[in-house]
Amino acid sequence: MTTNHRIALIPGDGIGAEVLPPAQQVLDVLGRRHGFSLSYTSYDWSCERYLREGAMMPADGIDQLREADAILLGAVGYPGVPDHVSLWGLLIPIRRSFRQYVNLRPIRVFEGIDSPVRGARPGEVDVVVVRENMEGEYSEVGGRLNSGFPDEIAVQEAVFTRAGVTRLLDYAFTLASQRGGRLTSATKSNGIIHTMPFWDQLVTERAASFPQVAWDQEHIDALAAKFVLEPARFDVVVASNLFGDILSDLAAAVAGSIGIAPAANLNPERDFPSMFEPVHGSAPDIAGQGIANPLGAIWSAAMMLDHLGHPAAARDITDAIAAVLAKTDVRTRDLGGTATTAEFTDKLIELL
Ligand code: ATP
Ligand code: MG
Repeated sequence: MTTNHRIALIPGDGIGAEVLPPAQQVLDVLGRRHGFSLSYTSYDWSCERYLREGAMMPADGIDQLREADAILLGAVGYPGVPDHVSLWGLLIPIRRSFRQYVNLRPIRVFEGIDSPVRGARPGEVDVVVVRENMEGEYSEVGGRLNSGFPDEIAVQEAVFTRAGVTRLLDYAFTLASQRGGRLTSATKSNGIIHTMPFWDQLVTERAASFPQVAWDQEHIDALAAKFVLEPARFDVVVASNLFGDILSDLAAAVAGSIGIAPAANLNPERDFPSMFEPVHGSAPDIAGQGIANPLGAIWSAAMMLDHLGHPAAARDITDAIAAVLAKTDVRTRDLGGTATTAEFTDKLIELL
């Protein structure tokens, strides 16, 4: 009997709708090989919908997604629509309603890719950034006073809870124990004197339960510099919502193109669907031309298969990504080639 997984597809805007079909093509090949099937329900939730109807998704949008086994998202963003609309109108409600408190962003420098960073030799860089995804600096606590007056002020509180940080750290330490056995915690407890010392304290507490993991902590400024200078020294990096966001974009750039980087918004307890999405945005500058790099979406689909219980199928995908980059010179324009999205996808499927 083949297992069927119900996938909610949210192509979104711009190249989001161009990179999901390649991911589906790859998923279908693997389903046939590994004995599972996927059924898709597609949702047109996007900034374009916002411009048409005044909301990114319908009022009962979260309820519509609830029964899905996973959500695969392309990208949201549209010229003229402020980023906070797509963030607070779609992504953050999904992350929070479904308790997707882990944002997982693997970074590898593949053979055959030119990293802009000299120290990033192919095959040596294999890092996972584990970003807190529900609390921290991205909070609604705060406000603005005295609008337009010389004494105008804005206050934004960062909110860190023992429960929220601890569950994230448990995930990160467990992941580190299954990988290279090293964990680095991003902090800034020299300048941020309440939340970051609390974070550090909880890291120390949780570390006691994972004696097999060698861990250290770095101030975010120094860590950012080391990510550029010697990215190969890192294995698992755990960070708050804001620090993790910045570090993972930095790391994606180190890897050679933002078009490759995947992300998973995980609900580790699996009581709600998790969401998988490429790190890149809707790329309005290249949308509609059929030249977007599909690897970020395809790798995100691999993370989805891993989460759905098909690790071997997921590995087939990452192996094929490594192979298409190492063994062929077929590439999209962001990687210095001339291939279209479809040509790049076909080559990858040929190697799968
Ligand atoms: P958004 O507002 O949706 O975040 P953005 O323009 O701010 O969009 P990205 O969409 O990530 O951010 O684009 C940043 C740059 O990277 C653009 O020049 C874009 O063309 C390029 N880019 C992003 N993703 C890809 C991809 N998959 N393939 C090729 N180029 C890409
Ligand atoms: Mg952007």
